[in-house]
Amino acid sequence: MKTIVSTIAALFLVLFILTTFVPYPPARSAALNAGFTDADIDTGLQLAYERRFFAWATIALELGILCAFALSGLGRRWADRLLEWTGERRIPAALGMGLTIAVVHEILWLPIGIARLNHAWAWDTYNLDFVGWLIDHAKSSALSLVMGAIAVTGLYTVLIKFPRTWWLVAAVGASVLGVAAAFLAPILINPLFNTFTPLGDTPWRDHEPRVQALIAKAQIPVQEILVVDGSRQSNHSNAYFTGFGATRRIVLYDTLFKRQYTPDEIESILAHEIGHWREDHINKGLLLGTLAAIAGFFLLDRILRFAIGRAPWRLKSIADPASLPLILLLMFLGSWVVQPVANAVSRHFERQADEVSLELAGQPKAFIDTELKLARDNKGNVAPTPWNVWLFATHPPTVERIRMAREWEKSTKGTKDTK
Ligand SMILES: [Zn+2]
Repeated sequence: MKTIVSTIAALFLVLFILTTFVPYPPARSAALNAGFTDADIDTGLQLAYERRFFAWATIALELGILCAFALSGLGRRWADRLLEWTGERRIPAALGMGLTIAVVHEILWLPIGIARLNHAWAWDTYNLDFVGWLIDHAKSSALSLVMGAIAVTGLYTVLIKFPRTWWLVAAVGASVLGVAAAFLAPILINPLFNTFTPLGDTPWRDHEPRVQALIAKAQIPVQEILVVDGSRQSNHSNAYFTGFGATRRIVLYDTLFKRQYTPDEIESILAHEIGHWREDHINKGLLLGTLAAIAGFFLLDRILRFAIGRAPWRLKSIADPASLPLILLLMFLGSWVVQPVANAVSRHFERQADEVSLELAGQPKAFIDTELKLARDNKGNVAPTPWNVWLFATHPPTVERIRMAREWEKSTKGTKDTK
């Protein structure tokens, strides 16, 4: 067991060093070539570098807690205690196990969270005061607890009722939960943190006719274009497409209007979100997630069976609450294996949405200006190393998106010239 723990620790240490300290000089010349200044590049690199310490401290903490519970016998002893208290009822005991891990994590994470908050204030990337931050954090923690409780109850119910085929039932259940979460997020969850207003009811309603014209051109049934008061938390500018079925909507940050993005630039951003809609990216993402869940739960079934009777888990069955820390650890490690693939898919979707944006809005200059402006406003890292992109990036690097727009511009000019 010690070899397993040291192998995991060594792997993550290598990843931390690689992603934090190893530079990639060619990224700078590419960013300069795209139109960024040395100052833009240095700001983005420095902020990304400093943020990584908070991210990796969080990763180390989570890994430490999960290894302590899953690989040392502590999980077994604590599960026995919980089973005793709950009269051998496995679902309440599993919920107790999950709650224990969540509480330990919350207490130990809080100093990292507060340090990160101070860092964000120092960089002027966060607008709420301490109380505001604490309330938002308490809300999201409560939300995680509720969703975690639903997941644990569902998983152990399935493990108890379908000991042979649980992995298939759980995958179907997880995708139903995924659809429910996608459907409910924009109407139940997001409004807990921000206010959403139809564009026509905001001070920026002048944009409405152009927005409607673009939607008509794209021929998609957009019910709602909403503006979110993102400036409550930060000056970060963004837009996104969310929801499922009847709750699908496009959300624009108020910062886009407050920071004087031109109508052409807002159109370029909106056209990108319409691209996600037209290419059906939410449904495709849910489908891929379901396939991954089937494979993941199947693999988990094999490992849980291996852990029956074996130290340090000494599981009595796969539905033993002592299995929860092991399940959480395997999910944590599994997400590191799956993430590069999932991110590659996400970057592919983003490229498709960019192509739609260029075709629909037909304004490569506005597209490029928007990319430059967004990166500067958000103090984004415009010279990331290829391995950081590969591991973490859900979007193609800004420089790549600008290059794509330039190439698109050249190719369309080319076709016009030959006509
Ligand atoms: Zn996108």
